[in-house]
Amino acid sequence: MSYAEPQGRQPTPDSVIIVGAGIVGATTALFLTQAGVNVTLVERQRPGWGASGRNAGYISMITRSAGAQLELANLSRSLYVELADEIDNFDFRAAGALVFYHEEHEALVEAFVAQRAGDGLPIGTVDAATAHEMCPLLAEDVVGGIHSQADAYIHPQKFVEAVTAAAVAQGARLVVGDVTGLEVRAGRCTGVRTSEGRLDADAVALTTGSWTAKLLAEVGMPLHLFHIRLQAAETSPIEEHFNVQLYGPGIFHEYAFIRNVPAYDDDLVLHPLQRIMPHVGLLPTLVQRADGRLLLGCPIEFVEEPDSAATPTVAGLAQMFGILGDHVPAIQNATVERIWAGVAPQTGDGVPVMDAVGDIEGLFLGAGHAYGATVGPGSGRVLADRILGLPGRIDLTPYRYDRPGVVERISRAVMYS
Ligand SMILES: Cc1cc2nc3c(=O)[nH]c(=O)nc-3n(C[C@H](O)[C@H](O)[C@H](O)COP(=O)(O)OP(=O)(O)OC[C@H]3O[C@@H](n4cnc5c(N)ncnc54)[C@H](O)[C@@H]3O)c2cc1C
Repeated sequence: MSYAEPQGRQPTPDSVIIVGAGIVGATTALFLTQAGVNVTLVERQRPGWGASGRNAGYISMITRSAGAQLELANLSRSLYVELADEIDNFDFRAAGALVFYHEEHEALVEAFVAQRAGDGLPIGTVDAATAHEMCPLLAEDVVGGIHSQADAYIHPQKFVEAVTAAAVAQGARLVVGDVTGLEVRAGRCTGVRTSEGRLDADAVALTTGSWTAKLLAEVGMPLHLFHIRLQAAETSPIEEHFNVQLYGPGIFHEYAFIRNVPAYDDDLVLHPLQRIMPHVGLLPTLVQRADGRLLLGCPIEFVEEPDSAATPTVAGLAQMFGILGDHVPAIQNATVERIWAGVAPQTGDGVPVMDAVGDIEGLFLGAGHAYGATVGPGSGRVLADRILGLPGRIDLTPYRYDRPGVVERISRAVMYS
């Protein structure tokens, strides 16, 4: 029996409490509500307050490695199209991603594109003229671009708000409150304790992002997450307009599966600023919002815990502004309106968990999402199906709870994979 098939040990719940209104919790709430479940979504700040409202909005197919990550991203990508039809506007834009590159990257680009095409991604290269047509900001020394056609963009805060509003309009209840503990009696989770009082339900799902481990620890269940601080900045609107979302060639350094491409060499892709500040990674991203503003990202650092890490750092901003300003000089005079940081969780093996938790009946988990804008709706769909006991749309084995990368503290196998 495949793990994806219903296990039959739990009855379908009539009522479910979902804790945490990020992209995973909000989409799970919507899908369960649409299935007729009585849903209560509990959020201690406001929907999107965590990593989900702060992210760059890249539906990043090109960076998802073959297997579990890409399969979940593919499911999610198709759900975005349906959700864009169904609910309010969240600036969904399916214009693909362009990785601009320079002459010294050509052999690496060829090997990488061949690998990704083999993984089933619609991807190819464009010449310098086409790359400049796709984005007039690109510098003269750009010799071409990798065009990943399935990549897309959302405004993440608008998305979480729109999905939450749709769930509420269809019958879900949104409660603003801090969940301080889980009610577990005789091996069954029957509700949560909150700052607003106790809430009861047939099942509880934790979608609390970087804050999940503490709630589980109190009921004796382990969860080992790494915490990643990511940063971003937004400029005033600029006159030029482009639809494609950009990555700089530094993207190649940030992913284990790309560093394994035979033509890869650190010296080809690392910017001198990264040699000065080796503890900071940079996923060089540049995208234009629907209102003309530029969104710049994303420095990456592993931090000890989430609560003190949601502010930008000098090293992170120095790399982001320095490297993007060097590679795309046209942005140097743009004025910065906002800078911010957020913390995303990652499991030891880089794959999220969507599963029931151990032997505690009625307790479910949607956790460890380092790439939640890319896979969030897919995760919400999978978790909702898991709670409903429906057959999996994809093989659920990679996302199970009881695997070493989740329940044991293992050394970090992957960077920001
Ligand atoms: C700057 C930045 C850029 C990023 N860029 C991208 C990108 O381009 N593409 C991409 O795919 N991913 C990106 N990410 C990662 C992405 O944002 C996360 O993977 C995703 O948001 C995780 O979603 P989540 O729903 O699991 O958690 P969160 O969004 O963190 O939601 C958890 C929610 O739970 C609530 N909560 C926690 N504890 C409690 C409690 N006890 N009681 C009640 N509520 C509670 C929190 O307030 C929070 O709102 C980026 C992240 C950052 C910070």
